[in-house]
Amino acid sequence: MSAQRQVAVFGATGSIGGSTLDVIARHPQRFRASVLTAHGNVAALAELCIRFRPDLAVIADPALEGELARRLAAAGVHCEVAAGHDALTAAASGHLCDTVVAAIVGAAGLDSTLAAARSGKRLLLANKESIVMAGPLLLQALAEGGGELIPIDSEHNAIFQCLPGGRPNLDASGVRRLILTASGGPFRGRSRADLAGVTPEQACKHPNWVMGRKISVDSATLMNKGLEVIEAHHLFGASPDRIDVLVHPQSLVHSLVEYVDGSVLAQLGNPDMRTAIAHALAWPQRIEAGVTPLDLAASAPLAFQQPDLSTFRCLALAFQALRAGGDAPAILNAANEVAVEAFLAGGLPFLGIADLVESVLTELPAQAVVDVQTLNERDGMARQAARRILRNAC
Ligand code: NAD
Ligand code: MG
Repeated sequence: MSAQRQVAVFGATGSIGGSTLDVIARHPQRFRASVLTAHGNVAALAELCIRFRPDLAVIADPALEGELARRLAAAGVHCEVAAGHDALTAAASGHLCDTVVAAIVGAAGLDSTLAAARSGKRLLLANKESIVMAGPLLLQALAEGGGELIPIDSEHNAIFQCLPGGRPNLDASGVRRLILTASGGPFRGRSRADLAGVTPEQACKHPNWVMGRKISVDSATLMNKGLEVIEAHHLFGASPDRIDVLVHPQSLVHSLVEYVDGSVLAQLGNPDMRTAIAHALAWPQRIEAGVTPLDLAASAPLAFQQPDLSTFRCLALAFQALRAGGDAPAILNAANEVAVEAFLAGGLPFLGIADLVESVLTELPAQAVVDVQTLNERDGMARQAARRILRNAC
């Protein structure tokens, strides 16, 4: 067996972070959590450090650095402590890890994800917003760094598993279509009228997956699937016409690849992110993940249906942004982040999320992606526009 992997878990206190640490803890010979990061939950980060004894802990909120250091000293944990955005970026490219699990939520994960790619780490990508925002820049950073990206978003991990060699030329490999499955979220089958008054609590109650609140809302609007279409486009070099979405309420088929000879390969499993995480951590080997084996005979019949794009407009908007090209996906993502935040805070109705994203896309037509700085400026403009539209609507 190869040397123990030193794994940096960015967003260690989150849902993906927790699942990652669960897999790591099952394989202490193979993996060590050498870097742990969190945003503001200093108590949870300190607890994880006490349990996993990393070399470095980074808290994104600089005001909490002292408290983290005090908690760790009191517990007799002697790891390095750092804080702030630059410390996160430095940790992603630093010598304390060879593998980075990018599991920060939202555009806040972009710089550390890019830094990991640029420095040749094995990048396990959960933070889909970073590839949606900066797909070409991330691919360029990966090529420069010479590392590898293994998706842990379950659909993309499934497609990765169904393609020969992970990321081949689709035409040369006889691939006709990539088919992303979507559970349909908690509001599958509802009409627009039904959705007018739904609450954040209802939106966050996903039928099959337990996830952070932002991705849960994205799953309810189907924006999550829209972001994943854009993610698939970049990861696998597939044009928008070659990416389809199929609603599959059981979430057992995680995605499919259709070949020109009529074969359709799928990856199945219980809905538990530890499968994708374990696959990506150990690739090309396979390791035990703690996931209950799939019992197809005892499962509900597998059903598939077309998505309802007129009720769940966010998916259509994501396809529109992908086709518009340039930085339109980054604008879509930024507007969506503001919209979801406002919805979760009770300041925007559920159906207003798509309206707000559409207004911002109309106000800021796509421009070419030049560099990260310009992209961050455009992200800022989109957020400002979204907040202004929100204020004016109140
Ligand atoms: P979560 O809300 O549970 O956790 C987010 C993590 O990011 C936390 O550790 C938090 O401290 C950290 N964070 C938040 N804002 C930050 C900031 N500004 N700076 C630094 N750190 C910050 O989210 P999650 O459900 O674990 O999702 C994480 C990412 O993985 C998202 O991009 C999501 O789309 C993706 N993803 C999640 C799942 C899932 O099952 N949860 C599945 C596929 C993809
Ligand atoms: Mg997914």
